[in-house]
Formats: sequence, C-alpha cells, structure tokens
Amino acid sequence: MSAITLRELTKVYPNGVRALDALDLEIADGEFFALLGPSGCGKTTLLRTIAGLELASAGSVSIGDRAVTNLPPGQRDVAMVFQDYALFPHMSVRDNIAYPLRIKKVGRAARHDKAANTADELGLSALLDRRPGQLSGGQQQRVALARAMACHPQVFLLDEPLSNLDARLRLEARTFLKRLQRELGVTTVFVTHDQAEALALADRIAVMEGGRIRQVGTPTEVFRRPANTFVAGFIGSTPMNLVPARVDGDALAVAGVRLPVPEDVRGRLTDGEQVVYGVRPEYLDYSPDPVPDALTGQVVVVENLGSFSLVSLDVPAGDGATTSVQVVVPEGREPDPGDTGWAVPRPGRSLVYRDGELV
Ligand code: ATP
Repeated sequence: MSAITLRELTKVYPNGVRALDALDLEIADGEFFALLGPSGCGKTTLLRTIAGLELASAGSVSIGDRAVTNLPPGQRDVAMVFQDYALFPHMSVRDNIAYPLRIKKVGRAARHDKAANTADELGLSALLDRRPGQLSGGQQQRVALARAMACHPQVFLLDEPLSNLDARLRLEARTFLKRLQRELGVTTVFVTHDQAEALALADRIAVMEGGRIRQVGTPTEVFRRPANTFVAGFIGSTPMNLVPARVDGDALAVAGVRLPVPEDVRGRLTDGEQVVYGVRPEYLDYSPDPVPDALTGQVVVVENLGSFSLVSLDVPAGDGATTSVQVVVPEGREPDPGDTGWAVPRPGRSLVYRDGELV
C-alpha cells in the first residue's frame, strides 16, 4: 500500500518564506495526482518534502503505513523525476537506468538485466549504448522515467515532467505517461502549472495558492464546480466569468438583467445580499437576437481560436460601468465587433459565490 498522507505539513525556509502552510492532503494508493497552481504557490516544495529533499518544519508525511517525515530520501522508497531529467551526461542510457541499482549495491549483471528489461518496457532498447546528449527530449524523458522505475518505488514524484518538450512531443509524452501510470499502478504525484495537462492526465487535482490547498477534486469537479473564485479563475483555458450580482427575490440581478437563481442554491440565499454570479464561457450560448434570461451587451472583441471563437461582450455592471463577459461561439456563428448580443446560460451550469466561496 502506498497512499500518501500529509498532516498539517508546514515548510518555512530559512529566509522566512512559508512555502507550505499547515497543509492536509490524502493521495490514494495508485492514484495519478496533480499539484497545480500559480508560480510560487509551493508545488515544488510540496513534492520535495514528500521526497525528503526538504525536511518539514512541522507536520507529518506518511507513505502507506510508514511515517517518513524525518527519513532521508533514500529510505522513503520514492523516485523523483526532475524537470531537466538530471541524467548523467557521461554515462550510457544503460548505466543511467542502472544507476540507482548500483547505489543499492545490486551486482553488475543483475542491474544490466534489469536496465534492459525496463528499457524494453519503455521502448528504449535500441538506445541503451547512447549517451543522453544523443537523444531527443522525449527519449531523455523516457530514460529518466526508466531510471525512476528500475527500483520499483512505491511512489513516483514528477516535477513538471513534460515542460521540456515541444508542443507536439508533449501530447505524445502525455499519452505515454498516462498509459504507463495505468499499467504500473504506482501512486504518482506530478507538479505542473499547465492546467490543461492536469485536467487531461490526473485522477485528481489539488489546486494550490500561497502554500495552501484551495480545492482537491477530479478534473470534472474542479472544472464544473470550482470551490472558490480563485480556482474558478485559475482552471479552464479561459477563466470563468465572475460577475457581481444581488439576490432579488427569486432572481439574481446580474449586469442589468434578472436571471433565475440556480436551482441547487435556492433557499440558501438571502434576499438583497451581494454575491458573485459565475458561468464558464463554454456554458454560455451566443444569440444575435433577444432571448429571455440572458446577459446582454455589445460585442467588443472576437478572437478566432480555430474551431471556435472567444467573444467578449461588454455588459453593464451598474453605475454606468461595464464588465466583460466571454462566450465561446462555434465556428461560422461569430458576430462582429459592435453587434449587440445575448449570452444564454445553459441550465444547471451557473454557480453562485459568497465571500469568494461556492454557495
Ligand atoms: P514554480 O511554479 O514557479 O516552480 P512553485 O509553486 O513550485 O513555483 P516553490 O518553488 O515551491 O513554488 O516555492 C514556494 C515559495 O518558496 C516561493 O515563494 C519561493 O520563492 C520560495 N522558495 C522556494 N525554494 C526556496 C528556498 N530554497 N529558499 C527560500 N525560499 C524558497
């Protein structure tokens, strides 16, 4: 069993930066788990603290039923793959893969056998005698994974595993990584700041901010029901529209119109209170003609993104000000800047936030 349990995990660096702030997290055995968040939120620190490359200032780390908080990296039974792969340039692929076995004092013949088997599993057999400098970025990544796999660790820790690859290789490597993790079933934690990558790969995602976790959930949960406005603004290729609103009887007064209060929050709002209305650009349908229960405004920008366009409408925000609402519009149905348009929320896709938290 190799679940990972973090309790009140805190890391304060000697310069006083609190990179992890009493963080609680449970990662299930065999899970493919992503740490996601803006630069500086503590993702790498969290990964390195699980690995033992940083020691916790307070709190605990357990792997399976072992408390590993104060153990050195070599005794934690984890393997970490670094962003730059950290391969030894002067060693062959075979020796790179076999290196952790050498450290563990496995005999030469046995470790070369093991390296050959692992290389075979990752499609690297033909490259065993090459040096890292003679490999493509994708091949180097596979060698780094093979080196991590050779010891059969209980946990894989991957720091931005795909960030060194170009866009095309990245997609290929992403599919490869997902398949490999499925086949091995090893608990895997990976750091990324690319939310599309996290959504595509992970069983569950933790979204971090300032050394804390703001939400843990499946990709669908964090995408459809962000727990707070921070996650709502962070997840998705375009952030969620978040528009100030006021509860007005059985309606929400939003951007100069009245929209029905979403069914799942009825009875939980107080008449007259200020809230924020949230809806993803993907969950709004554009209409060039007036439609009831829709936001309306003037089209200001139409961005062509291939098979769809992102249309920005300026809608009234009270006191003569306007706020921007974005709508995803399929190819061929784009309006022109200057048009008046209506953005119709799809049923069941609107959210309400109070004090930044999902109601
Ligand atoms: P990025 O996405 O930019 O890699 P991150 O989410 O991985 O960021 P960390 O690298 O964990 O964030 O850093 C968290 C905070 O701790 C940042 O404020 C960073 O400046 C600080 N920090 C990281 N390493 C050290 C260190 N060795 N000494 C002091 N402060 C550090």
